[in-house]
Amino acid sequence: MRRRDAVSAPHTAGPRPRAVVVGGGFGGIASALRLRARGHDVTLVDRCARLGGRAQVYTVGGACMDAGPTVITAPHLFDELFALFGHDRAEFVRFLPVSPWYRIRFHDGEHFDYGPTPRIESEIARLSPGDVDGYRRFAAHARKLFDKGFTELGDQPFHSFGRMLRTVPDLARLRADRSLYGLVSRHIRDPRLRTALSLQPLLIGGDPHRTTCIYALIHELERRWGVVFPEGGTGALVDALTRLLDLAGVEVRTGTTVERIAVRDGRAVGVDLAGGGHLSADVVVANADPARVYGHMVPDVAKRRWTAPRLNRLRYGMGLYVLYFTTDCAYPDVAHHTIAVGPDERDELRDIFDRGRLCATPSVYLHRPAATDPGMAPHCGGDSFYALACTPNLRAGIDWGEAAAQVRERVLDRLEASELPGVRGHIAAETAVTPEHFAHAYLDRHGSAFRIQPLFTQSAWFRFHNRSEEVAGLYCVGAGTHPGAGVPGVLCSAKVVERVIAAGAPA
Ligand SMILES: Cc1cc2nc3c(=O)[nH]c(=O)nc-3n(C[C@H](O)[C@H](O)[C@H](O)COP(=O)(O)OP(=O)(O)OC[C@H]3O[C@@H](n4cnc5c(N)ncnc54)[C@H](O)[C@@H]3O)c2cc1C
Repeated sequence: MRRRDAVSAPHTAGPRPRAVVVGGGFGGIASALRLRARGHDVTLVDRCARLGGRAQVYTVGGACMDAGPTVITAPHLFDELFALFGHDRAEFVRFLPVSPWYRIRFHDGEHFDYGPTPRIESEIARLSPGDVDGYRRFAAHARKLFDKGFTELGDQPFHSFGRMLRTVPDLARLRADRSLYGLVSRHIRDPRLRTALSLQPLLIGGDPHRTTCIYALIHELERRWGVVFPEGGTGALVDALTRLLDLAGVEVRTGTTVERIAVRDGRAVGVDLAGGGHLSADVVVANADPARVYGHMVPDVAKRRWTAPRLNRLRYGMGLYVLYFTTDCAYPDVAHHTIAVGPDERDELRDIFDRGRLCATPSVYLHRPAATDPGMAPHCGGDSFYALACTPNLRAGIDWGEAAAQVRERVLDRLEASELPGVRGHIAAETAVTPEHFAHAYLDRHGSAFRIQPLFTQSAWFRFHNRSEEVAGLYCVGAGTHPGAGVPGVLCSAKVVERVIAAGAPA
């Protein structure tokens, strides 16, 4: 491995500035590396035993399983982190191409393999020949949204309302007030294709019928850089980043919870640890849920913006039920990423986001990593999977002690009717998580797996700012902040944080 002798530190004289990063999700790791490369002494603290945030790894029936993100897009955002220290990411972890990117299984049994052009066009022609031209128009619009939302604004701060106002004419021209489903429906007639092409908000916690169509940029993101999977799983990517942190000289403290951000004269001066102990710092970067940061971690600061009533009024993202399991036989025909859509997607979304109740016939996302990396299958043979269903978050008051077993049966019903006939008789080992896990393990408000929803009214300036307007020297990174959830989003938020810390003065 190549290694630059010194980090690219613009800092030249005097003691190095000290930074504490609270939370070791991808956003926290990226911030720690970026600040280290700028010459800060950095300590990264996480309450979990292992870094990665929700990209934890579970061992189920002897198989290592990724617990969280598995669809990796915009891989260059990871490459940049290794390049900061003169390294080549490929020497730490290989990225394998995934094909198809996803398989959408409709309730009528038909499927749609989503992948690069021209494959996607031939799939559209197979299902609905009249929609190919409409798809091209949709893809052209998605490209414009990508140019604006990702290339131009994705790593820029949105701290001033003036900046937001300056962006409004462009957003209005691109009709960012429309939902993604609304945009797709303007161009596509087949109801199955409308569903298939507007699923992306579900990957970041939003309802496709309400999420701003800016998120059509994900479609272009996938077209440009494809969908990849780290060899050995997302956990192997976290391991590679952990090694990089070590080589870069970032101090990592896992199994450590930050109780409070210490504030003196309106400025963050460090963090107080649960169980005692204090780490002093010139800047604190919170990768924790910003709703928790403002709700619990700076109790003595009088809030100007993020008051308790305002935090209560926010619309929090959905919860998740995830079943991790191994089987005693292999399912070689099952794709890496399959979304088995339920019979009434619209009604299901109303259950999740409005009625706060469990859907009787949920859609299920099925992850089968051995489709791309055979090494992910259990060593003793068989296959490994996770199956995920979207649920209301904890605000709905569902008793998960009882509901978990019910959702398990509904998820398995959907799998048996689609990709995995008779799977109940082949499950060798299993474990599951519910929204309660997200609240307890990662301290997510209301157990929301993706933090606040990606609505237009909760995006850009309206979202939690990357530079706190409540406490000087406090910065926020990760899914709750601009630009939003999803792995590319949180890596971009770390770029914004680096930019505003480097600028020093308000940006
Ligand atoms: C099951 C699942 C599947 C997903 N699939 C995909 C996918 O395929 N592709 C994709 O792009 N995105 C996916 N996502 C979304 C994506 O994983 C997240 O948006 C992203 O990883 C969040 O990163 P983050 O930087 O916000 O940190 P997080 O992952 O939220 O990590 C924050 C960390 O901070 C720690 N922390 C919180 N409070 C404290 C404290 N007080 N003291 C110390 N530590 C603290 C938490 O324990 C946690 O480890 C998925 C999410 C889930 C849950």
